[in-house]
Amino acid sequence: MRVLIVEDDAGIATALAATLKCNGYAADVTPTLSLASAALRVEPFDLVLLDLGLPDGEGLDWLRQVRREGHAMPVLIMSARDALPDRVAGLDEGADDYMVKPFEPEELLARMRVALRRSEGRASPLLRHGDLLVDPAAHSVLRNGEPVVLRAKEFALLLALLRGSGQVLTRQRLEQAMYGFDEVLDSNALEVHMHHLRRKLGEGLVKTVRGVGYFVPAQDSQGGH
Ligand code: CA
Repeated sequence: MRVLIVEDDAGIATALAATLKCNGYAADVTPTLSLASAALRVEPFDLVLLDLGLPDGEGLDWLRQVRREGHAMPVLIMSARDALPDRVAGLDEGADDYMVKPFEPEELLARMRVALRRSEGRASPLLRHGDLLVDPAAHSVLRNGEPVVLRAKEFALLLALLRGSGQVLTRQRLEQAMYGFDEVLDSNALEVHMHHLRRKLGEGLVKTVRGVGYFVPAQDSQGGH
């Protein structure tokens, strides 16, 4: 899951990015709205965390523009402005949630999971696929009821594959979901993670489409019915 943090307070931004990375997200920070727009043009982000007062404008104006351009990913506003009109305006302009600063990281992470779940059309927090049961909040995977230990990047890769099940995901798309701009990436890192994932979860789960990418066949992967 790739998250864009639009925040000009370097202290907050750095702490947030660290929290997200600890929790298996790939996080990028842009301190201005123009850089945020540039980032959106080149990378597919799964979620945006948006401050309201930025050096080059108002986050709300930016959000309105972004929605007009058709970007549909969840946007969570994080602002010290706690007045009711601010919160209502934020939600009405297309934000999915509104966090009043300061907030606890645990609550932000929980609200991010809700927003992502909703954007995927899932009511259940759990992802189910064949003999796998994946809990994104707890970072846990059960295979036939038995816990499987995955490293952070393996877990991120599994989530990206399950969330996109039924479609072929290119190497580039998977790498974008797993890594931020500032992370150095070995050319075969994806293959290494894929190898471990298959070893731990069975060879049949992920199919290779030679020269294109990978996919997990669609089935009852949405869970929670
Ligand atoms: Ca600010």
